[in-house]
Amino acid sequence: MSTLPPTGSLIPVDAPFSAAQESWLAGFIAGIAAAGKRSAAPAPTTTIDVLFGTQTGNAEFLADELVAGAVARGLGGRATPLDAVTTEQLAAMSHVLVVTSTYGEGEMPDNAGLFWDAIQAATVPRLEGLQYAVLGLGDTSYDEFCQAGKLLDTRFEQLGATRIHDRVDCDVDFEDPAALWTDAVLDRLAAEAGATGGGGATTGSSATTGGAGAGGTGAGRASRPGAQWNKRTPYASRLVENRLLSSPRSAKEIRHYEFDLGDSGIEYTAGDALAVVPRNDEVFVAELLEQVGADGSEEFDGRPVAEVLRVDREIRTPSKDLVADLVQRAPSSELAAVVAHGDKHELDRWLWGRDVIDLLRDAGPAAPGLDELLPNLRPLQARQYSISSSPLAHPSRIHLTVASVRYGDPHRMHAGVASTFLADRVAPDGTVDVYLQPNAAFGVPADQDAPMVMIGPGTGIAPFRGFLHERAASGATGRNWLFFGDQHRDTDFVYEDELTGMQEQGVLDRLDLAFSRDQAEKVYVQTRMLERSAELYAWLEEGAHVYVCGDASRMAKDVEAALLQVIRTGRGRDEDDAQAYLADLRRAKRYVRDVY
Ligand code: NAP
Repeated sequence: MSTLPPTGSLIPVDAPFSAAQESWLAGFIAGIAAAGKRSAAPAPTTTIDVLFGTQTGNAEFLADELVAGAVARGLGGRATPLDAVTTEQLAAMSHVLVVTSTYGEGEMPDNAGLFWDAIQAATVPRLEGLQYAVLGLGDTSYDEFCQAGKLLDTRFEQLGATRIHDRVDCDVDFEDPAALWTDAVLDRLAAEAGATGGGGATTGSSATTGGAGAGGTGAGRASRPGAQWNKRTPYASRLVENRLLSSPRSAKEIRHYEFDLGDSGIEYTAGDALAVVPRNDEVFVAELLEQVGADGSEEFDGRPVAEVLRVDREIRTPSKDLVADLVQRAPSSELAAVVAHGDKHELDRWLWGRDVIDLLRDAGPAAPGLDELLPNLRPLQARQYSISSSPLAHPSRIHLTVASVRYGDPHRMHAGVASTFLADRVAPDGTVDVYLQPNAAFGVPADQDAPMVMIGPGTGIAPFRGFLHERAASGATGRNWLFFGDQHRDTDFVYEDELTGMQEQGVLDRLDLAFSRDQAEKVYVQTRMLERSAELYAWLEEGAHVYVCGDASRMAKDVEAALLQVIRTGRGRDEDDAQAYLADLRRAKRYVRDVY
């Protein structure tokens, strides 16, 4: 293949493209040109296996970047989800880079659990011939920070593999440390291999990611249209719709939002998430300033501190550093007494619902002043929401379904940062900084005939609305079954008209509803699953893909227990057999969850 001429000469000046489309096209053409050049380069002698464990897509994104970085250095590279690798395949690999997040209380993410189980077995092959390094992603506000990365790092070492670079554990602002680690590791591997640039990315059977037929090599996905909008450079999207879905009489406030994608070039997939960059409420900023005896005009990094607190700092959820600092400053506070008990769950319970201002008040006169407080406030993070639309039905808009978090008492109201930012503080048609968080593992089945079972109580319904729109628009023939519920049918049956409409059109074959507080006994989605056990098992046997979205702390665990019971009853065997059946579903990416 000959090398293509410079990009500019291939796009006529009067071509009918927007700036964003032109920029994407230019990148695309440059990629082809680079591929053309690459084919003339010698085949890489070292292949880097990048194995990733991901829950929300960050580790997968970094895995893609690692592959691209390896290829740019003349190495071969392929990205594979951890669960897609057998221990025999692992033992045959020479260079492995693991990048993994941690889920829940120090658990493996959903696409790494089977791998973790497998490499703990006594019969697992030794890894003496393997060189490896681990990059952990986590959140220091959790006790088991980066636990999955730590466990894998230790286990590889126990099995005789050679660590070629120290593990780095990244906090939520992972970009910079991850980039440093990536460069250091890849530079070293390239130097050892004597590589000279322009290697190859492989799409092996395991190199594609996700069960939804999405995939391709990481390098391909990393350069998808609209990928220039990210955490550092978000896209200012117009919020064109903000509508209350729940009844004004509901105990909850669930809202429907629509974001205009304009000329961003962003192309999303049903099942992806949208990250929203929020701003704090000025009322809370003012309360905080008053609490520390400041008026907000004080300068910090050359900016008024009121602005810094509104835009850049997390003032709702107290950081671990702040908790430790307050305990030291105010040893007789309520917080210090709870910490002194040494019971993590008791501390979590006490902290639950309390914000930074509550803690400062609890510390009384010993509370820190502004200068001492600022270093202990974490950077304000973007919040991710599962997208509730499909690009096939709404190519130029992204829909979200969000519950506004508001609680408190007459003395002090509390509010979720991003949910109330969207609900109250963005003017109609105002802009919101957003970026796409792709989630290749969570999407409609590639097989248009495959049945889908979707379990999403509360706002967990969000991605499934997108899935159903997608299937309606694509004319997929697979049957669709939705389990949904919330507190009361009367006030909380969101998207009722749409769902019943889809039933009438034959898109939604089964809709099972569980309104928990409409009767004396609680009825949950898993209650309905168990009532329909035989039919649900029959769907599984017919190849159904099972999806769960919503609360991770209780619902997702209870739904999994119900699913295991359905399998046990359906097969007439024991718990181990049901667990193995579910593991097979996971491996085949027919049981996937978007829960937190
Ligand atoms: P929610 O609080 O989860 O409540 C929805 C329904 O679930 C209610 O009827 C509730 O009943 C019921 N429920 C309570 N405990 C349950 C259990 N153990 N098993 C099954 N159902 C149970 O609804 P929400 O306000 O929409 O919150 C959803 C949660 O999911 C939040 O934690 C949110 O952060 C998370 N979420 C995550 C995503 C994501 O993208 N991964 C998307 C949406 C939501 P009672 O209240 O009557 O007990």
